[in-house]
Amino acid sequence: MSSRFRVGARTDVGKVREGNEDGFMARDPLFAVADGMGGHRGGEVASKLALDTLKKAADRSQALPEVVKEANRVVYRKAAADRALAGMGTTLTAILADGEHLRLAHVGDSRAYLVRDGELQRITKDHTVVERMVEEGRITAEEAEIHPQRSILTRALGVEEEVQIDQATIEAHPGDRIVLCSDGLTGMIGEARILDLLDRHEDPQSASDALVDAANEAGGLDNVTVVVIDVVDGDGTGVAAPPAASRRRLPSFVLRVLVPLVLLIAALVSIKQLFIDNQWFVGESNGNVAVFRGIPARPLGLDLATLVEETQVPVASVVTIPAYRDVAEGITASSEEDARAIVAQMEADLAARAAVVPP
Ligand code: MG
Repeated sequence: MSSRFRVGARTDVGKVREGNEDGFMARDPLFAVADGMGGHRGGEVASKLALDTLKKAADRSQALPEVVKEANRVVYRKAAADRALAGMGTTLTAILADGEHLRLAHVGDSRAYLVRDGELQRITKDHTVVERMVEEGRITAEEAEIHPQRSILTRALGVEEEVQIDQATIEAHPGDRIVLCSDGLTGMIGEARILDLLDRHEDPQSASDALVDAANEAGGLDNVTVVVIDVVDGDGTGVAAPPAASRRRLPSFVLRVLVPLVLLIAALVSIKQLFIDNQWFVGESNGNVAVFRGIPARPLGLDLATLVEETQVPVASVVTIPAYRDVAEGITASSEEDARAIVAQMEADLAARAAVVPP
C-alpha cells in the first residue's frame, strides 16, 4: 500500500519584515520549506530558485540528494553571476515521497518534525552556530531556543559550489503527521505550544493557519512558513487506526537511533565547510578600520572572525560620518572585494569632507 497525504500549508510575511523571503512546496510527492537570505532581494530569489529547481528535478524522477545538489549549484551560479545577488543563500528542508518511504534532505535551520503517538520529535538538526554550542555543551537546548544569535547559519544552500546535505528516511505510518517549518515559527513559539496547536487542529490546513497565527501573535519577527503533511490510508479519504505495537518497533529504532546517527555523521563531515568562512565585514582593529573574514557577532565570547588587513584609517575619524557610525560593531560585506570597496569609500568620504571643512 502506498501512502497518501492530506496537506496544509501557509507562508506569511510576519509582523515586522517588509518582504517574504520564505517559500514552500506542498504537492505530493514533494514537500519543502525554504528560507532565503542575503541582500535586498537576494533572499527571495534564492528560496524561489531552489524550490523551482527542486520541482523540475523531481519531475524528472531524480533522487532527492541529486535534486538538492542541483538546486545548490543553480543558486550558487546565479549569485556568482549577478553582483546584486552576491552572498545570497537559502535553507532547504525537503521531503520526497517514495512509496512508504519519505526521503528527507536538509540544509540550514528550517526544521522537520514528526508527530507520532502524540509525541513531537524533531528530525532535523539546525545548522547554526548556536546548535554547535549545544553539542559542545556550552549552552543548553533551552538557552539555544532564545539565543540572540540563533539564526547565524553554519551551512546554507547556494553559498558554496558544493553543499553537505543531511539525509534521512522516514517510514510513514497512517496517522503520522509531519511538519516542515521555517525558523520564523520555532523562533517565536516553543515546541510544547506547537504540539498543543497540532493536537487541536485535525485538519492540516487549519493546523498550518493556527501555527502561523500563533507566531504572529507572539510578535511575528520573521517570515513564517508551515507545511503540515498527514499520512492517511491508501485512498486518501481518512486517517487510519494507529499501527499495531509490533509494527512500531522498527521505525521507532530508525527514528531514535539511525536518524540521529546519520545526521550526526553528516554534521561532522560538514564542519569544515562552515558558512561563516564565506562572510566578510569591515570592523575595528587597534583603533583602525580593518577587513575581517567571518562574522562580527561573538556569541558567548566565541570569536568567529579572522583579521585579514588592518588599514591606516582611524575608526575615531570614520565614525564622525553618520553612515559609518557603527563600524566598530562591524559592517557586513558580500565578499572580500566588497569589504575593500567599503574601506575605499570610507577613505574617499573622509577626503571629500576634509576638502570642504574650513581649517
Ligand atoms: Mg527565517
